[in-house]
This record gives sequence, C-alpha cells and structure tokens, in this order.
Amino acid sequence: MNDMNLDDLRARIRDVTLRIVDLYAERLSLVRKVAELKAERGLPVRNREVESDLWRSVLARCGEAGLDEYDCRRIFNFLISSSISAQVPEGGGAGPHVEVFRRAKEIERSGEKVYHLEVGEPPWSFPPNVLDSLVEAVKRGETRYGTSLGLPRFKEAASEWLSHRDGVDARPERVIPTPGSKYAIFSILSTFLRPGDRIGLMLPAWPAYRGMAAHLSLEMVEIRSMREVERLRGVSAFILCSPNNPDGRVWTRKELEELSEILRENDALLISDDAYAELSFVDRMAPARIYENTLSVNTLSKAFGMTGFRLGYVMGDEERVRKLSKFLGLTITNVPEFLQEAGASALESARDWTGRVKENLASYLDLAMRKLEGAPLEMNRPDGALYLFPRVELEGFSSMDFAFRLLEESRIAVAPGSGFGPYDDRLRITYASPDADQGLRLLREALQSWRS
Ligand code: PLP
Repeated sequence: MNDMNLDDLRARIRDVTLRIVDLYAERLSLVRKVAELKAERGLPVRNREVESDLWRSVLARCGEAGLDEYDCRRIFNFLISSSISAQVPEGGGAGPHVEVFRRAKEIERSGEKVYHLEVGEPPWSFPPNVLDSLVEAVKRGETRYGTSLGLPRFKEAASEWLSHRDGVDARPERVIPTPGSKYAIFSILSTFLRPGDRIGLMLPAWPAYRGMAAHLSLEMVEIRSMREVERLRGVSAFILCSPNNPDGRVWTRKELEELSEILRENDALLISDDAYAELSFVDRMAPARIYENTLSVNTLSKAFGMTGFRLGYVMGDEERVRKLSKFLGLTITNVPEFLQEAGASALESARDWTGRVKENLASYLDLAMRKLEGAPLEMNRPDGALYLFPRVELEGFSSMDFAFRLLEESRIAVAPGSGFGPYDDRLRITYASPDADQGLRLLREALQSWRS
C-alpha cells in the first residue's frame, strides 16, 4: 500500500471514531431521559432483565461482525457502567463542612485565630497508656509488614470491649482492624456491593456516605423517618449511625426491629456505623443484637480521642471478615502494627476511660445549652455524639451562605446543614470542642445580629 492509501485509511478511521463519539453522546442523552422517567416512577437504576436482553443482542451482533467476545464484553461493560454513572446523582465528596474546615485552616495559616465548631474532633486526648504502647512497639521493631487480619492482641482487646459494650458475640475471629472507620465503610461498600445496587440511608446523615455511594455508582434510597421505611424494600444494604451524626439520635429497639424485618426479606446487609456508640447519654441498643446480617463499624477516633491515628475495626460474621481482609490486603496491606498495639492499650482501658469521657461530654453539652440560650435556634438535647443540629429561626436563612460568611466575617467555623440532606435551615455545631466556650458565645452573638 502507498502513502496515499495510508492517509486515506487514517482519515476514515478518524471519521469512524468521531461517529462513535456522536453515537455515544446520543446514547447518553437517551440514558438521561430514561433516568428522569425512572426517577419519576421510583424505579431502580439497574434492571437486570433489560441488561441481559441487551447483552444477548450485542453478543449476536458481535458474532455477525466477527468480533472477539472478550472485546464485545468490554464494550458492553463500558456502556453499562456509563449508564449507571449517568443515572446516579453526583456526590458532594466528603461534604461542605470539609470545605469550611479547609478554608478555616487556610485562614489559620495566615496567623489568625479560627473557632472550630465544624469538625468532629473531640476535645480530649487519648488514654495515657497509648503513647507508651506505641513507642515500645516501635522500639521492639513492630514496624514491618503485617497481615490484614490484624494482631491477635488488638483483636482480643476489641473483641472483649465489643462483647461488653454491645452484648454481642464478638469473638476475635469476627474482628478486623481498619485504617479508621471511614475507610472501613468504603471497604465494605467496595467489597459487598456492585454499581447500581440500592443502598438505604436515614437522613440527616454524615455526608461521606453519599459521597462514597456516588463514587461507587451506588443508588441511595434516602428516608427521613420510619414512616417511609417501606421504601427500603429491595435495597442491598442500609447504613445507620446510632447515636447519629449530626443530630445525635439513638435508634430505639422497636425501630431497629421494624428496619430488620424489611432488610431480612432481601437478606440485605446492615452497616452499623458505631462511631459514637461510646458517646450515648441514653440506653443504646446495638443494631448487631437485633439484625444478624450486621457489620459493626468502630473507631478509636471519637471516644478515645485518636483521630490522627486513623484506627478503627469492623465486627461481623467470619466469612465477611475474611472477604474484607482480602480487600484490605489488596489496598493497604495491613494497619501498622505499632498503631494496633496503641489501640489495644486504649481498648483495654475502655471501661474506665469511656465512663470519664462521657461525664466530660455531658459537661460540654450543659455548657453549650447555656451558651446558646437566647440564640434564634430551635433545638433538642441530643441523645449522644458530639453535635447539635438546630434549626435556625431566621427569615431567608441559608446554611451554606451563613457558614461561609460567618467564617470570613467572624472567624467561626460551623458545618452547613445542607451537607446532611435537605436541611439548609440547620447548622451542625460541634459542642464538644476546645473552642466551645468562646466560639459558642460568638456564634450566639453572630446569629442574634445576623441579616441575610
Ligand atoms: N462515621 C461517622 C458518623 C463520623 O462522623 C466520622 C467522623 O467524623 C467517621 C465515621 C469517621 O471516623 P474515622 O474515619 O476517623 O474513624
């Protein structure tokens, strides 16, 4: 073949490639129309029958065209996953409070004081034996690779603590360490769910759940009260948090039973985010006691003040724990062993420690209720966790606008309510904060003089 032919062929390839792009765009716009109709009718993102039917047609056409089945499958998978992404709403990353936190840190770097009431960073430090354990473990040389299943000492300490805290069968084989509970939840979603699966959530909710679901192309089914529980039929998993971030609400036994009945129909997974389990002012029923298909996700960040250690653990049935260990082995290899040693020491002193932390937390809450008296806020005393989630009684109030202006004008950082669901008339305020005393007073004054 001469050069003319080559140019000619290249021009035709270019032409065909551009036609594929146009066809892809046409397909996407049809997918979006389907998405609108499905949303109107409350239908799920994926329909396996429609997909199988399409696959059979595509396979037949590939056969006629003499294409390799492997290539054919790759093209098909690409198109299906793009359809799923187009139908699942964009997630907002970790949430607007993280944007507020980022901007607050920027202001601080320029040398100004910011009052932090936006992040879930507890005011207490970790138990005193933690540091010694960490240093001794490093000195002993526990600084090498380990296994993703975790150190026996850590698993035993976590097992003992969970059995006591929740009254569940938490044998060490059912426990696995994770680098914090956020990554634990991401690992669970990645391991046990597939793009397009439906996952239930009770609002208001920690924004990271929706961010992760969007990242993994999962479809969220969000409810705002138990009256809507029927809408959860058919979900593959449900995430709950008790006490809840942001409103501190603790799920009652009756609510957990009602939820379980629905989840059981489909053998759905319950992801119980127990980040604040140690910080409940009321009797808390552990979801794992009510529903057998539960993975309990725990952290040393909150009650044990170990946010920067990035240490958590999951408890569930042995088979799921083994599957999770594969995902963790693949992605992080293992949680550093010297951190597990430090965590084990914290958990071994948990009974005594968490009792004291809760007393401390209660005094922060009393202080916050006093400091905010007279502010235009409608709020209840939370059942637990580190936050208040009041409704702001100001005409035309927008939490996003308020939070960013408050930071710029008064150097107070709070979390906009809109990050937790349709709550733009609310703020999440971390009352258990070292800045609570001054920060809450300044917040009350800012709210009292606020003009939107
Ligand atoms: N779950 C909830 C509800 C949270 O509020 C947080 C942190 O704010 C986490 C999980 C994550 O905690 P960590 O990743 O530090 O264990």
